[in-house]
Amino acid sequence: MSDNANRKVVLNKRPQGEIANDDLVIREEPVRDLKDGEVLLKTLWLSLDPYMRPRMNDSKGYMDPIEIGATIVGESVGRVVESKSPKYSVGDVVTSYSGWQEYSIISGDAPMVYKIKDQGVPLQAYLGVAGMPGRTGYCGLTHVGKPKAGETVVVAAASGPVGTVVGQTAKQMGCRVVGVAGGEKKCRYVVEELGFDACIDYKGGNLEADLKAACPDGIDVYFENVGGAVTRAVAKLLNSGSRVPICGFVSAYNAEDASKVETPFHVFGAMEEPPEHRFFLVTEWQDQHQEVTAHLAEQIASGKLKYSETVAEGLDNAVEAFKGMLNGKNFGKQLVRIAD
Ligand code: NDP
Repeated sequence: MSDNANRKVVLNKRPQGEIANDDLVIREEPVRDLKDGEVLLKTLWLSLDPYMRPRMNDSKGYMDPIEIGATIVGESVGRVVESKSPKYSVGDVVTSYSGWQEYSIISGDAPMVYKIKDQGVPLQAYLGVAGMPGRTGYCGLTHVGKPKAGETVVVAAASGPVGTVVGQTAKQMGCRVVGVAGGEKKCRYVVEELGFDACIDYKGGNLEADLKAACPDGIDVYFENVGGAVTRAVAKLLNSGSRVPICGFVSAYNAEDASKVETPFHVFGAMEEPPEHRFFLVTEWQDQHQEVTAHLAEQIASGKLKYSETVAEGLDNAVEAFKGMLNGKNFGKQLVRIAD
C-alpha cells in the first residue's frame, strides 16, 4: 500500500437547484498499490467546467449522471509519480479525466489522456483556452458557426475560456465581434484586452437596446453559451441565413426542474425563419485534438490569444469556486491549484 492518502470530492446528494452545503463532500482514502499497466497521477491543476452541474442531476443528458458516492468528474493536469505502464514514465505531465481528487490511478491504455508537450505556455492553460474549452470555442465556431469576413458574430460568457477563444478567433477571421458579459469590469476587459468590437453588460438593464446598437447590421453568427434573456434578445436580431452553434446554456444549469426550462431550441425553433442551429460536442472533433491544441498553444505563446483565469487554492475550496463560476463570480477560466 502506498503511503499517500487521497482526498476526493464525491456526490453525496443530488442538488435541488443551487448546490447546498452537504451535496458535495470530501472523502479520504488510502492510495492503493498499482497493478500492472496502471499509472499513479498526482493532480496539479483541476478544471471546473459548467457541464459538471447537469451531470449531478438524475437525468440523462448527452452524458450519464454521476452516481451518488462517485467522484465528481472533471479534467485535470497531473504528474506521473509511479508507473507500471510502458507508455508513461515518472515525471510525465498529462491531461486526463481523473475527477476532483488529489491522486488518481489510470490505466496506461485509458483514452483521452494526453501528454503535454512543452510549447512554452503554463500547464493550466491546457485546461482552459488551449484545452477542452478552447477547442470547443475554436471548433464550434469554425465548423458550425462558419463565419465569413465582414459578418457580425455575437458570443456570451465572453470573458470565459470558450467565449474568449470564439471572439478572438472570429476577429482573426475578419468579423465584427460583439461579446455579452456580466458586469462592466468584464465588458471592459473583453473590449480593451481581448480586442472585441463591443461588449454588452446583460446585467446593465438595457440588454435589447444595447445589443441592437452594437449590431447595426444584425447578427450572422450567435455562439450560444448561456440561454435565457440573452438568447431571446439575440433572436430578434438574427439575419436571414444566420448560424447558431449551440454549445451550452449555463443560465439553466441550476434549474430545479430542467424539463420546464425554455431552451435555445425552443426559442430558435419557434422563429418564423429559424437560423441554422444545432447542439454540438467538442468531441465531434476529437481527431483534431492534437492539431487544435497545438494551434491554440502557439497562439498563446505568440501573444495572439489573450485570456484570464481565476484560481482557487486546494480541493477544500473547489466546491465554493464551482458554485461561484455558475453565477459568474469567475473572471476567465476557473481553476483549482491542487499541488505545485
Ligand atoms: P465560463 O468560464 O464562461 O463560466 C460560465 C459563465 O457563464 C459565467 O462566468 C457567467 O459569465 C456566465 N453566466 C452564468 N449565468 C448566466 C446567465 N444567467 N446569463 C448569462 N450568462 C451567465 O464557462 P466556459 O467558457 O467554460 O463554458 C461556456 C459554455 O460552453 C457553457 O455553457 C458550457 O456548458 C459550454 N461548453 C460546451 C461544450 C460542448 O462540447 N458543447 C464544452 C465546453 C463548454 P458572466 O459573468 O459573463 O455572465
